[in-house]
Amino acid sequence: MKKMNVVIYGATGNIGRSVLSIIRKNKKFFNVEGITCNTNVSKLLKIADSLNIKKIGFNEKSLKRSVRLNQKKFEIFNDISDYEKMISKKTDIIVFANSGLSSLELLLKLLKLGKKIGIANKECIISMGDNFKKISNKYSTEIVPLDSEHNSIYHLLKQNYGKFKSITITATGGPFINSKMETLKKVTFAEAIKHPVWKMGTKISIDSATMMNKALEMIEAKYLFNLESNEINAIIHPQALVHALVNYENGISTAIFNKPDMRIPISSLFFKFDRFKNFNNNLDLTKKSLEFIQIDTNKFPAIKLGYSIMKQGGLAPHVFNYINEKLVNLFINKRIGFLDIVKYNEINVERVFSKNTNVYNPKIEDLKNINQWIDNNLYIGN
Ligand code: NDP
Ligand code: MG
Repeated sequence: MKKMNVVIYGATGNIGRSVLSIIRKNKKFFNVEGITCNTNVSKLLKIADSLNIKKIGFNEKSLKRSVRLNQKKFEIFNDISDYEKMISKKTDIIVFANSGLSSLELLLKLLKLGKKIGIANKECIISMGDNFKKISNKYSTEIVPLDSEHNSIYHLLKQNYGKFKSITITATGGPFINSKMETLKKVTFAEAIKHPVWKMGTKISIDSATMMNKALEMIEAKYLFNLESNEINAIIHPQALVHALVNYENGISTAIFNKPDMRIPISSLFFKFDRFKNFNNNLDLTKKSLEFIQIDTNKFPAIKLGYSIMKQGGLAPHVFNYINEKLVNLFINKRIGFLDIVKYNEINVERVFSKNTNVYNPKIEDLKNINQWIDNNLYIGN
């Protein structure tokens, strides 16, 4: 097998760690050309040294810092607007695991390179909407979804068991699945990021606690697989062994079972399934009882809101996503409470579209304009 030339965006994050774990166990198959982070340069340098990586990217413009780095040893990309230049002719696979919407323009450039991209960042897919698949198809860019639910669907859809009916994605239910409403009102940052199953970055952990993550994933599925909102379901499955199902008109549903370990979906970006045996992931179903439970949408209104946003279409998914990112930051900074994240999202989406017309097939300029309006008018109470 020829060595795969790989560039990893977001190498210092949780997805980055899983990607690097796969690479470290299979060194002879990889040449990591470049890695990036936001500001965690010390961790980035450690990774670069350990894998002999030549290109590094970070968002740290201060010259002092870059001078301190060994300029001879590394080719440095000193701002996210330069990160695309890390890709060379020989790059085979790009891992897109930056968090958040700040990477949107970078992704837009990468989609036009005709490479294979493993994408974990759901925020960018949602904000690009229909354009995500349109652009990647136009430039023959191959997309492998890394989000566990979407990765399952991606593989399941390669088989056909009848006339397609719908998909179902599962949710663990997050840390508050058994909490009362009264408790939710007082949730702290530390409680919100304590996920029972997955070890993830701060933003996605808070999204999981509010179940905004599942609402975002429903929209992510819409754009990845070109689905209508009535073809997308979400249910709770606390054991996180089944990540998604594909349902057919004939009553058959298909699923892949695997332990909640992100290295499994990520491995499928690099290898055929037979190389996954390296991980200690043997599944003993006799030791688990599998539960599938309907989501209480009164307790987790994010799901209802997600459906209404999908139906609205146009700019609405981006607006929902952008406002969520802002509100999560306000929660982290103790400016709003936990339940306010979804509550103010709904209020603000309504305000946005009472003052601005929705744009169907929005361009990046439309997103920027609406972001500016939201920045100037975000309502979080008096
Ligand atoms: P983390 O917060 O752990 O990591 C985020 C990574 O992105 C870090 O390398 C960080 O650098 C980098 N980054 C953050 N902001 C910027 C920026 N402005 N410019 C450049 N780089 C930036 O997040 P996760 O790894 O958990 O998640 C990454 C993405 O994958 C998210 O979009 C998430 O929704 C998605 N995802 C994650 C899953 C998981 O299990 N973790 C599962 C499914 C999807 P630095 O270290 O310097 O801050
Ligand atoms: Mg997921």
